[in-house]
Amino acid sequence: MKLVNLKDSSDVASFSEAVKKGLGKHQGLYFPESITPMEDIDTLLALPLVERSIKILTHLIGDELSQEDISSFVTKAFSFAAPLKKVTDNIHSLELFHGPTLAFKDFGGRFMAQTLAHISQGEPVTILTATSGDTGAAVAHAFYGIDNIKVVILFPKGKISPLQEKLFSTLDRNIHTVAIPGDFDNCQQLVKTAFDDPEVREGLHLNSANSINISRLMAQICYYFEALAQLPKDQQSKAVFSVPSGNFGNLTAGIIAKLLGLPIKRFIAATNSNDTVPRFLQTGKWEPKPTVATISNAMDVSQPNNWPRIQAMVDTGMFDASLLKGEAIDEEYTQATMRKLANLGYISEPHAAVAFKSLSQSLVEDEVGIFLGTAHPAKFRETVENVLGQPISLPQALADSSAKESLAIDVDNSYAALKAHLFSIVGEA
Ligand SMILES: *Cc1c(COP(=O)(O)O)cnc(C)c1O
Repeated sequence: MKLVNLKDSSDVASFSEAVKKGLGKHQGLYFPESITPMEDIDTLLALPLVERSIKILTHLIGDELSQEDISSFVTKAFSFAAPLKKVTDNIHSLELFHGPTLAFKDFGGRFMAQTLAHISQGEPVTILTATSGDTGAAVAHAFYGIDNIKVVILFPKGKISPLQEKLFSTLDRNIHTVAIPGDFDNCQQLVKTAFDDPEVREGLHLNSANSINISRLMAQICYYFEALAQLPKDQQSKAVFSVPSGNFGNLTAGIIAKLLGLPIKRFIAATNSNDTVPRFLQTGKWEPKPTVATISNAMDVSQPNNWPRIQAMVDTGMFDASLLKGEAIDEEYTQATMRKLANLGYISEPHAAVAFKSLSQSLVEDEVGIFLGTAHPAKFRETVENVLGQPISLPQALADSSAKESLAIDVDNSYAALKAHLFSIVGEA
C-alpha cells in the first residue's frame, strides 16, 4: 500500500511507515495513492464480519502484510458484533458499541494495537495521547499487556465523567494515566509540545494513536460493509448513512467503503453546534468558530483533523461532493430527539441522537436510513438519565471498572513536569 502526504506529494510512505509515524512532513496526513474497487461485492457481503474484513484489509494493505498476519489481527481485534437494529420502518441503528470500552473507537484502537505491535517487532514504543473520554479508554484497553508498548494517557482532572475515567485509569502494567489540573486543550498542548521535543520524540519513540492514524481508518471501513450485509438485498443500494462527526475519521472511512464498491447511496455529516463542516458544505467557506461545549462532547471539535482526507477525495474526483450533505443539530433538538427515541423504545445517547435527527429530517421516499450508534448510552449515564428522567443500568464492563481504584497520577500542568514524569515511567522495568 502506497500512501501520499496530502501536504507534500514527494513524501510517500508504506502502510507500516504511516502507522509508525502517524503524520508526515509539515503535519500532513497520509492518504492512499489510489483506491481500487473490489470485485463481487455480493459474495463479499454474504461472508461473516471477520472473514469479510480480512478480505477487505488484504485488498487494501495485503502487499505489505501477509494474509496470515492480517487474519490474526482482524480475528483478535473484531471479537464483538456490530448489529443493525431497526428503530423505525425505514431507519436502523448500526450499533458499534459492543466492544470492551463500549464505543466505536474499539474497532480502530484494537486493530491499530495489533498492527503496531507487529510492525514495532518488540522495539520500545511510547503512545502519548490526550483524551476527553472514548479514545483514551479504547487505546488503553487495546494496548493493555503489549509490554514493549507503553501507553501514557493525559486527561483533564475532574472534567470527564467518573465512569469514563475509570474505564482507562484502572489498568496497570503498561498503561499509565496522568491527571492534569486544566482542560482538554491544556492536555492536548502538552502532548503537542512533547511531539515537538526531539529528545522526547526520538528518545521515547513516541506515537500518538489518535484518529489520524491510517490503521484506525482502515479498520473502520469494515463496519460499513457489515451494515449493508444485514439489510435485505433489495435495500442495499438505497442506504443513506448518517455519521455523528467530530474529527471526521468515521465519515472518511465510510466514503472509502463506497470507493471500494459498496453501493452506499449517499452520506450525511451530522454535527452538534460545532458546525464548521455543515456550514462549509452550504457556503463553500471554511470558517471555524471557537469550540462550544455540548452534551455530545466527543464531537466538540471545530477544526476536524480528518477533513483534508475527505477534501482530497473530492478534489481528485474520486468522490462526488453532491453525495454528502451536512446537518447541524443544537442541544435542544438533541435532547428532544433522545426523548423521541426513548418513546420509540430505543434508548440512545446524545451522539447517536444527533445522527438520527439529521437522518430523519433528510431522508426521502425510497431511501433506507442507517445512523451510527457510536457509544453505549451507559457511557453517558448522567446526561441520559437527566434528559430521560429514568435510571439506566450499567453493562458489566462499566460496572467492573467503576468498582476499581483509579491509578491515575497527578502531574502539574507544566511541560517540565510532564517530561520528567515520562522519563520516570519509561525508565521502569
Ligand atoms: C469519537 C466519537 C465521535 C466522533 O467520531 P469522528 O471519527 O472523530 O468523527 C462520535 N461519537 C462518539 C461517541 C465518539 O467517541
